[in-house]
Amino acid sequence: MHLSGKTILVTGATGEIGSAISRALAAEGARVLVHYGRNQAAADALAAELGHGALTIDADLADPAAPTQLWAKAEATGPIYALVNNAGIRSEVSVTDPLADWHAVWQREMQINLTAAVDLTKAAILHFREEGGGRILNIASRAGQRGYSANALPYGVSKAGLINLTKSIARSFGGEGILCSAIAPGWVETRMAEEFIAQHGADAALSEIPIRQMATLKELGELAAFALRPSQRSLNGAVLDVNGASYTR
Ligand code: NAD
Repeated sequence: MHLSGKTILVTGATGEIGSAISRALAAEGARVLVHYGRNQAAADALAAELGHGALTIDADLADPAAPTQLWAKAEATGPIYALVNNAGIRSEVSVTDPLADWHAVWQREMQINLTAAVDLTKAAILHFREEGGGRILNIASRAGQRGYSANALPYGVSKAGLINLTKSIARSFGGEGILCSAIAPGWVETRMAEEFIAQHGADAALSEIPIRQMATLKELGELAAFALRPSQRSLNGAVLDVNGASYTR
């Protein structure tokens, strides 16, 4: 039980990866603060399943004021050990779309995927300073490392920003015991992947992955729980690639 008694805020905790991470953290004894956007029933069910005093907190991260309010509610429950910036969206927009649509998609994607994490990070750092340290784990993407597809440029850019934020926080605040790392998954076995395979066939997704399999939710949960162990301090600044060698660097 490496995380026993530690409180960890997980954003987008009711999503597929968020719930896998939350379960893995709770299995290590953590008290998870289950952030959700709209699905209160799913959040309540997850918190009940997790136990260890898990609580739910709602916030629509598309609202620029929401991340700071979310942190304030989380902090009001007691000292926080770690923040997992997991919430994210992937939207499509083409260079041929009208400028107003283009702007709207870019703005929303950057707000939810990057600015919300930036604002939560700001509030978390101030809290962690008072606590003598803390952890931030960002769920980025291979898309932010190698570039992304023409119809989803904002997604890759937002994840590249999250990776750079990870490194800057690690280098700037590591000396204060505030450690930051990121996980960058390629394809993950989620509903989105299943739909892609149903539409394009398994080969379209798997042919670029030498191990011929997508990352499982269990793998991601395990890795997040491992990266947040108090003993893992030198991972500070690391971007952990979880892509079966479909992208190496
Ligand atoms: P998901 O859609 O199942 O979960 C996303 C979560 O983010 C949901 O809980 C959702 O409620 C939350 N969210 C989205 N918009 C929100 C808003 N406005 N306010 C509050 N919450 C909001 O997707 P997932 O596959 O579990 O993705 C989780 C993270 O992993 C994302 O950051 C995603 O970019 C990243 N990722 C996913 C894959 C993949 O293959 N699924 C690969 C690489 C990275």
